[in-house]
Amino acid sequence: MSPFEYAPAPESRAVVDIASSYGLFIGGEFVEATGGTPFKTVNPATEEVLAEVSEATDDDVDTAVRAARTAYTRVWSRMSGADRGKYLFRIARILQERAREFAVLETLDNGKPIKEARDVDLPLAAAHFFYHAGWADKLDHASLGPDPRPLGVVGQVIPWNFPLLMLSWKIAPALACGNTVVLKPAETTPLTALLFADVCRQADLPPGVVNIVTGAGATGQAIVDHPGIDKLAFTGSTAVGKMIARSIAGTRKKATLELGGKAANIIFDDAPIDQAVEGIVNGIFFNQGHVCCAGSRILVQENIAEELDHRLKRRLATLRVGDPMDKNTDVGAINSRKQLERIEEMVAVGEAEGAERWDSGCDLPTNGFWFRPTVFSGVSQTHRIAQEEIFGPVVSVLTFRTPAEAVAKANNTPYGLSAGIWTEKGSRILWMADQLRAGVVWANTFNKFDPSSPFGGYKESGYGREGGRHGLEAYVTTGGRG
Ligand code: NAD
Ligand code: MG
Repeated sequence: MSPFEYAPAPESRAVVDIASSYGLFIGGEFVEATGGTPFKTVNPATEEVLAEVSEATDDDVDTAVRAARTAYTRVWSRMSGADRGKYLFRIARILQERAREFAVLETLDNGKPIKEARDVDLPLAAAHFFYHAGWADKLDHASLGPDPRPLGVVGQVIPWNFPLLMLSWKIAPALACGNTVVLKPAETTPLTALLFADVCRQADLPPGVVNIVTGAGATGQAIVDHPGIDKLAFTGSTAVGKMIARSIAGTRKKATLELGGKAANIIFDDAPIDQAVEGIVNGIFFNQGHVCCAGSRILVQENIAEELDHRLKRRLATLRVGDPMDKNTDVGAINSRKQLERIEEMVAVGEAEGAERWDSGCDLPTNGFWFRPTVFSGVSQTHRIAQEEIFGPVVSVLTFRTPAEAVAKANNTPYGLSAGIWTEKGSRILWMADQLRAGVVWANTFNKFDPSSPFGGYKESGYGREGGRHGLEAYVTTGGRG
């Protein structure tokens, strides 16, 4: 252990102003829900209630879709791309100006460390709007096909792991292409989406272009089922993704689904091992492991397995787990009691299956939802902890001998969202990347994101891409009108 202790370095929450209750953002203003049961969102690090939020009913969703349709036909689809771009630039600038406020609110509502909200979520959210602002007047030159046109009203349902960032991934390309939006944030993390409503007003975005409705699965389902929706964009669990695909089969609705993952982070014996350890930490302990593309399976070449095990555990013992508002914190709170229970259940399964469990042994706060960084070794491919998404700070270690075996094991899950390769051989990186059935493959790094780089999955990780030129394709129709 280090002889030095970190003094507390708490971020102030004075910069945010949380209302005691929130309505729905429809047609450019906050309105009361027509019924529904209001619910509370809590700070998962303290269990303190932050605010009461409305549950949008089917009628509220209908009102939001109509507002989006009106804004689409009267204003947004008629506006020039250059003018739409100005609004997106404005939103990006406001997000930058209010970054601290958003980062603090995200950390309070989600439980992620403030240094991640501040240095990852917020800069990337703003970058997404800047990037798509640039495309708004250049769609004719994006090789999307002849005469690209918007689809209409887009329904968007997002998860709780990157609340504002997932909102940005959804709203920025939709608006750049001339669509209007009805978006539902996750029930445990609605506050930054509700604050984004304020940004829309500050940017003078025409009313109804962005509508935000809160609620849980039933509200999401009402969006999915609404006949006035032209396209759905969903990020979340594979189970709900499959249900959405079934619900819209036979309709003319389009959909993109960004679902779960079980990424392999593959460490060869020629890799710079300390850098690989940092890559593993970033791959699975970033954001408490609540990351769809998390490197939740380490595949390590057998002859360095013992050394890697030793260095990894030594490093994990230095991770600071605790108060997310402390600027020194590395691993924050698990987002909800429900998610904590899911993680505990999967970890119990791993032990019952005979894998060897280790955790960092760090102290945990008494209130709130917490889980220690955990490593399973002696994991075999048939173990559930090698196949199923845990979505927490838990990594499974498997070994391999040859590159071909690494590929076979890496591809042996129902998922295919991402993968990582650690080796000094460029030719091996290229060969492996070609063989891996994963939408994103990182080499000698992990969890790097850029709005210009398309992101999405193979197999049960979903379909469609977000980001880059490819991400625009999901938001336009091209060719003959009909
Ligand atoms: P979820 O799929 O239930 O929730 C994601 C979003 O979908 C939320 O906004 C939720 O309200 C909404 N939703 C739920 N049921 C719906 C329905 N029938 N129709 C429309 N929308 C609906 O995910 P969860 O329960 O929060 O998490 C469960 C598991 O999902 C996690 O353990 C993790 O494995 C996975 N997950 C993946 C991601 C990802 O980024 N791919 C994000 C969150 C969770
Ligand atoms: Mg919350």
